[in-house]
Amino acid sequence: MESQVLKKPWWLKKKIDLKLCHHLKCLLRDLNLHTICEESGCPNISECFARGTATFLILGDVCTRNCRFCGVKKGRPMALDEDEPQHVAEAVRRLGLKHAVITSVTRDDLEDGGAAYFAKTIEAIKTLTPQVTIEVLIPDFQGNKEAIKTVVEAGPDIIGHNVETVPRLYPKVRPKANYRRSLEVLETAKKLDSKLYTKSGLMLGLGERASEVTQVCQDLRAVNCDFLSLGQYLPPKRSAYPVKEYIFPQKFDSYKKEALKMGFLYVASGPFVRSSYLAEEYLKKMNEQRTTL
Ligand code: SF4
Repeated sequence: MESQVLKKPWWLKKKIDLKLCHHLKCLLRDLNLHTICEESGCPNISECFARGTATFLILGDVCTRNCRFCGVKKGRPMALDEDEPQHVAEAVRRLGLKHAVITSVTRDDLEDGGAAYFAKTIEAIKTLTPQVTIEVLIPDFQGNKEAIKTVVEAGPDIIGHNVETVPRLYPKVRPKANYRRSLEVLETAKKLDSKLYTKSGLMLGLGERASEVTQVCQDLRAVNCDFLSLGQYLPPKRSAYPVKEYIFPQKFDSYKKEALKMGFLYVASGPFVRSSYLAEEYLKKMNEQRTTL
């Protein structure tokens, strides 16, 4: 069953124009930075890079976990780059970003999981461009609450942690992760700072059932998760976990309606949605709502 390759439907055909990415790629190489956009083979790359946005990948480009949905290199990571926080801040400044999104590989080899680097990066951005809002998409830090606290205290606007899929599929898709622990990451962040927005995301098409998606959404609301993203899983390489289903765009719409009814403040749901896709929209929407109240 796993070797069966499904034909991509029309709504998932998207052209990647690398010429549009040239300027941003030069800037990234100049500052020795990585992005999840490139490392994960994201289908939105030409669109996002052409708009001058990217999601920075910190703590190197080698991950200590073995998630089967992810295209990032796995193995033993290199030493940390001390200049990285400053370089991310410089890239944010040069690109004129209004909203910066930072994620990382999972660094189970580091005592704090890299939390201090997240904090340093947030602080560097705040110093150089205080007007920029900051979103961090963090790993689970193996449930280390002190590490989560370190990131929260640095003062990002949004902390995201993706549950990625339904708990039944964790052993196959995210063997070193733990569903409950992921929920606890979001819960802990929110408890530490109730003004902070929390965000999570799921990839659909991995073999989950609709009832399981609903349950995950309910679990996320039970830990006061504010924002949700739902997108179609697309394998980043041939050896990755195979796609089991292409979800119809209408189904994404109905998940969105259902999630909004549950109380999420903002939901992005669609075939090409990724947790960092049009990330600035979430806070924009919150600000619009505040001004109309
Ligand atoms: S959707 Fe996110 S990961 Fe993909 S290219 Fe855009 S910013 Fe990068």
